[in-house]
Amino acid sequence: MTDVLALANVESSYGPIRAIRGVSLTVKKGQIATVLGSNGAGKTTILKTISGILDPTKGTVTFKGEDITAKDPALIVQRGLSHVPEGREVFPLLSVHDNLLMGAYTRKDRDGVARDIETVYGYFPILRERAKQDAGLLSGGQQQMLAISRALMAAPEVMLLDEPSLGLSPRLTREIFEIVIRINRERGTTLLLVEQNANMALNVADHGYVLENGRIVMEDSCERLREKDDIKEFYLGMK
Ligand code: ATP
Repeated sequence: MTDVLALANVESSYGPIRAIRGVSLTVKKGQIATVLGSNGAGKTTILKTISGILDPTKGTVTFKGEDITAKDPALIVQRGLSHVPEGREVFPLLSVHDNLLMGAYTRKDRDGVARDIETVYGYFPILRERAKQDAGLLSGGQQQMLAISRALMAAPEVMLLDEPSLGLSPRLTREIFEIVIRINRERGTTLLLVEQNANMALNVADHGYVLENGRIVMEDSCERLREKDDIKEFYLGMK
């Protein structure tokens, strides 16, 4: 499998705070990759650096063989990479349907857009029921569904997902992850998932990285990571 996304020695800071320090990772085409790490480890910073929201101080980000380091976020979306940010960030005063259309604003293929709207309503039928309502009136779980759906409307090749389980009940978390797996299997979308819920992440992803204090300290297949004592103890709460 070829690498669709690669970070090489990436460093990003907020003023004097070096949030990620020499991060290198790759995501293979068609894969679900995950970055695990506790609160403040730098997971969100990695995603922001990939999608161009934050410019790194060092290193390079390569997408489909092209250097996209510090490129305009809109251009990165156009190239085929979309980001579902932490905290959902839907447009609260726009209807659910209009939020979906906003996700497709760079596309010219109107038939494809109409088809993809049907697809996301198929994934999340509650969004069809609420299509005309303001997105701000949705529950947290429904806003997460909408945020994922809006990112899908850009027809991305790679999707970055920032803590999709945050604040959701175990049942809703499972529901969201089932759809994440379907997106990967049915559409061939490559995913990079950032999670504090290590149990869930290791179950859905193929390959995992462990981030501590802004550095990658471990990398392996999720199958093997699940068997490691450190992971069991610190991330899965098992002794
Ligand atoms: P969380 O689960 O809390 O989102 P995270 O692993 O995603 O954690 P980041 O949000 O990437 O971590 O933060 C990494 C470090 O950078 C932390 O020390 C955090 O306090 C700091 N940081 C993040 N955003 C900012 C900001 N806008 N200004 C200053 N420091 C920040």
